[in-house]
Amino acid sequence: MLATKLVDNAYDVALENFDSAADALGLDNDTREMIKFPERVLTVTVPVRMDDGHIHRFEAYRVQHSTARGPAKGGIRFHPQVTLDEVKALATWMTWKCAVVNIPFGGGKGGITCDPKHMSQGELERMTRRYTSAILPLIGPDQDIPAPDVYTNSQTMAWIMDTYSMTKGYTIPGVVTGKPISLGGSLGRNEATGRGCFYTIQCACEHLDIPLKGATVAVQGFGNAGSIAAQLLHEAGARIIAVSDSTGCIYNRDGLDIPELMHMKEITGHVYGFPGSEPIEPAALLALKCDILVPAALENAVTGENANTIGARIIAEAANGPLTPAADRILEAKGAFVIPDILCNAGGVTVSYFEWVQDEQHLFWEAQDVYNRLEKVMKTSFKDVLKIHIDRNVSMRIAANMLGIGRVAEAIHLRGIYP
Ligand code: GLU
Repeated sequence: MLATKLVDNAYDVALENFDSAADALGLDNDTREMIKFPERVLTVTVPVRMDDGHIHRFEAYRVQHSTARGPAKGGIRFHPQVTLDEVKALATWMTWKCAVVNIPFGGGKGGITCDPKHMSQGELERMTRRYTSAILPLIGPDQDIPAPDVYTNSQTMAWIMDTYSMTKGYTIPGVVTGKPISLGGSLGRNEATGRGCFYTIQCACEHLDIPLKGATVAVQGFGNAGSIAAQLLHEAGARIIAVSDSTGCIYNRDGLDIPELMHMKEITGHVYGFPGSEPIEPAALLALKCDILVPAALENAVTGENANTIGARIIAEAANGPLTPAADRILEAKGAFVIPDILCNAGGVTVSYFEWVQDEQHLFWEAQDVYNRLEKVMKTSFKDVLKIHIDRNVSMRIAANMLGIGRVAEAIHLRGIYP
């Protein structure tokens, strides 16, 4: 008997999604061979002197999936479950994501298999700097531009920028995005993923005729993307009835006070025990009957195993890869409307692009300017994907992949093959 597959391998999911969209596009085999697989894959060993004096060896990666449309672009993840296949999947999704929002970048991703929650600032800094030095030949403002991802932040980017600049001999802010404002970061970058996700939810609600005011929302994951999306939905009059993070899930049918919850999470580091809420099981959060579910944590949140229990009408993928292809099929049959990750969470990389443009020009924009431009990009992209979804009668995921993959294929055709 075959062993049951416990979790889907993210890279298999990425390849399966590619094939479905490539089939729908009628893409020829030569083009598929050219754009499906990563251009470059680097595995490095990162030795770090830990605070207790011993040396710990971390495994780390940087993958450039595509540079067909511009420099590779994508975040760096610090997480115990990081694997090369996960980084390859995330890099692949970055390629299609940048193409969906039509910014002049390819796709890349990096990761270190580590447990940042149990590391000191000093250990994190030494690990980040050594990793930067190990991937130095690959990165640069015109080559490959890292950014934050799960459990990395503006401080991590400051260390990368400094390490890179020290080896070059002068300051090069454009080598990373998501930097602190005082080091060439962009206003609005920190909240860009959640804000972009909010704009796509607005579009979906309009399309489905669901008033956002009074809509019920469950948010899985209360990190950078999930918390900001929840805050903006709350401000728009939606009722956030459940929230979870890696430590627990909370529920209140009348709606949680999101600004208060963000304040508590900032101080305590967790959401459980929030006054006025009751604890629920993670599976119960996903199964809540509500208008909008925002999976904002990791891959494989909704699979063939639990997709049947999902009670939401709209699923807004703030995370990368939270739904497996089996989950997609079940949800589609149930009539749920999925805003796919490469569209829903593309606000982060879009404002990363704005940051890079500002760094290159040494000219910085006001926050409102960033928001207006982001809103325009997200809403135009949503419309473009929705049009393919309707005209070609394919799922929103296939439609988004068709748009992204089609644009990369066009770039490849125009460039031709070297030599
Ligand atoms: N890590 C984010 C993502 O998955 C942002 C990447 C970037 O800004 O380059 O889209």
